[in-house]
Parts: sequence; C-alpha cells; structure tokens
Amino acid sequence: MKRTSRDIRTANRYEVLRQIIAASPTSRQELAAATGLSLATVATLVGELLDLRMITEVGFEDSAGGRPRGLVAVNASGGALIGVDIAETYVHVELFDLALNVLARADEDMRPGESRPEQVVGQVAAAVGSVVARAGVEAARVLGVGVSVPGQVDRDTGVAEYAPNWDWHDVPLLDLLAEHIAHPLYLDNPLRACAVAELWFGAARGRGDAVVVNLGTGVGAGLALGGGLHRGVSNSAGEWGHTTLVLDGRLCHCGNHGCVETYVGAPGIMQNLRELDPTSPLLHPGDQSATVDALARAVAAADPVALKVVRDTARYLGAGIADLVNLLNPEVVVLSSWVAARLGEPLLGEVRRAVARHALRRPLAATEIVLSPIPTDPVSLGAATFALEGALRSVGQRAAKRTAPARSRTAPPS
Ligand SMILES: [Zn+2]
Repeated sequence: MKRTSRDIRTANRYEVLRQIIAASPTSRQELAAATGLSLATVATLVGELLDLRMITEVGFEDSAGGRPRGLVAVNASGGALIGVDIAETYVHVELFDLALNVLARADEDMRPGESRPEQVVGQVAAAVGSVVARAGVEAARVLGVGVSVPGQVDRDTGVAEYAPNWDWHDVPLLDLLAEHIAHPLYLDNPLRACAVAELWFGAARGRGDAVVVNLGTGVGAGLALGGGLHRGVSNSAGEWGHTTLVLDGRLCHCGNHGCVETYVGAPGIMQNLRELDPTSPLLHPGDQSATVDALARAVAAADPVALKVVRDTARYLGAGIADLVNLLNPEVVVLSSWVAARLGEPLLGEVRRAVARHALRRPLAATEIVLSPIPTDPVSLGAATFALEGALRSVGQRAAKRTAPARSRTAPPS
C-alpha cells in the first residue's frame, strides 16, 4: 500500500510527541536533532500539539550566545486515555494522563464459562466507568478508549473475528461497547498492543526493527519494522505462536499440531511441568497464574524441577525466537507480557543461550534479547496508546474533509 503524505505527517506527529514524552521539557531544536526532521517541520508539528493542548510551553533556556530557546513539555492534564486489556482470564483497565502515568486501575476476574460477549462487554463497561469515577476525570477529557482482545481483529470495523480461547466468531465488539461507552473506541489485539507500548515507551523506542514476543496464555510476536507497526495485509502479521515448532506435536486449539504456543504459552508450560513430574506440588490444575507464580518462586529457591521446566521451556522458545532472528534480522527482541515478567531473568538467561544455539551468527550478533522494561501492564498501556494515536490521527482528518476516525460517532459532542 502506498504511504500517503498524510500517513507520513501522522508518523512524524507520533515521533515528535513520543520524543517530547520521553524528554520533557525539550526545545524544537533538540526535537529536530532527535527525530531527524527539519526545524520547520518540527515547528509546525509542535504548533499542532500545542493547539491540541497535548503539550504546553514551559519557558526558555539559554542557547550559548543565541536567542533563548522556547521549551515545551507534555501537558499531563491535557487529556486522559483509557487502556482495556481483555485477557483469557481477566479484564484489566487503566486510566492514564497524557504523560502516561496511571491515575486509576480496575480489575474484573473472568471465570470459565463467563466469557460470552455480552458478559465481557458488561465487565469492560463497568471497569471503564469505575476508572473514570476514581480518577475524578471529566468524561469530556477522555480522548479515547483503546481495547485489546486476543485473537484476530478487524480494527476498521471493530469486529473480533476469531478468539480461539472463547470460540468467538465475528463479534461486533466495538458496536456492543459503544452502547455503554461514550468515548472514541479503538480495537486491536495484545500482540500489537505490546509492540506499540515498546515502540512508544519501552525497549523498541528509537530502534529500527524490533520483535516483541508476547508470552501469556496465548503467544505471538508483535513486529515493529522500519520504526512502525507491521500489520500485514489483513492485520494478522505476527501469529508466530501458531507456527509449527514440532511436527505432529501437541494439539493446539487452532486445530494444528505442534504450534509454538503449545510449548511456551502458560498452558504449555504447565504441560512441560506435568510431563516432568505429574504430581509436582508446583502444579495448580486449572490455574495458570498460580502455577507460573509457584514456578518463579521455586526457581528462586533453586528447585531442580522448576529449573528444568524453565530450561525446557526456554529451549522451545529459543528455537522459535532463532527463527524470528534469522527471518527478520531485528535489532532487539523484547520478551513481554505476564509470563515473561514473572519468570524474569532466569528465563531470559536460558532463552539467550538457546537462541545462540539455533540462530545464524550474523543476525544473532546484531540482536539484543531483553525483558520488557515497562513496569506496568504493557497491554493496557499499548491499548491506551492506540487511543493516543487515534487522537493524533484525527488532527489531519479534522482539517481535511470530515471522515469519522474509529468510532468517534459515539463521542460526546465537543
Ligand atoms: Zn496453533
């Protein structure tokens, strides 16, 4: 697809705001140097962001002998963003200010058998209402709500096309949510949420090509190539969790056998443990979260079974990540999501060793493998970033012919 001049302008707007959030306060000259854009382009984009009240003028700094330079900073209270992480076992919602500080959180547990679309929509609507009330934010200041749902999504129509864990097919999720939530809504999946979070605030910022490996109940790879999100022709790129790792291996819920996910997703890790020691006290049947926590604690106590499970899991993971390294030649591979966060450094060390056994030397030498440095839930942060990007995209659209961004028809009149 051809990149239009509007796409380029939007990407530049993202880049400038990203830099201001990272380095407030800053001058137009510093922004031009950091982004490689011309000073004139930066001045125009800064003007737009000032008009939007996303940033603010905060005084001047001396420039050796020259005219004092105007400084700008992110205007934290200039708006609020909401990120919704709908996972297989919970709904987690966070409300952020524009500096992406968390102002309020809400959690709803999702019990097995309570995952019908209407039930999930009810939980999301309740949690969104709760964070707005708790943060004490005026509804009109909420710029948007980003929603992440596992599986295949059509972000233009707001439809969750296929969520394998719940057997959802073609659920018009954003239309259902719009009946309860009167803010602009944006939909995508956790792979892209984690990738966007790393791109804006984490280990992929300023990197050319990055792979964000999402290790949760489901598994996938968010791809940030050439400094932007790679979606593929139908927003399905990155389904690495369903590439075949073991011929005729474990049955996957996608119908295939031997998928990466069946060995390194949380249920796969439980299976690795079960095969090693079926009666292990670390195993909490039916509770992925408790099992992964028990494993992490046992690894810290040098429990031999737990160490072996992490090593086995890392061997599968390393072989799969080596494929990504050989295929994409990325600058950084980021291990993200809750399983990676909880197994942490011990998993990272084993993964690095395993990747080194499988990857080609030249791409391997150029790749750094790290844990996500994002201290909060990367999925809800990434989902909120979709809302931020949506608000930035709409600047150009407002100026041009009025085409509705995402679900802005549901927004309150401004
Ligand atoms: Zn699969």
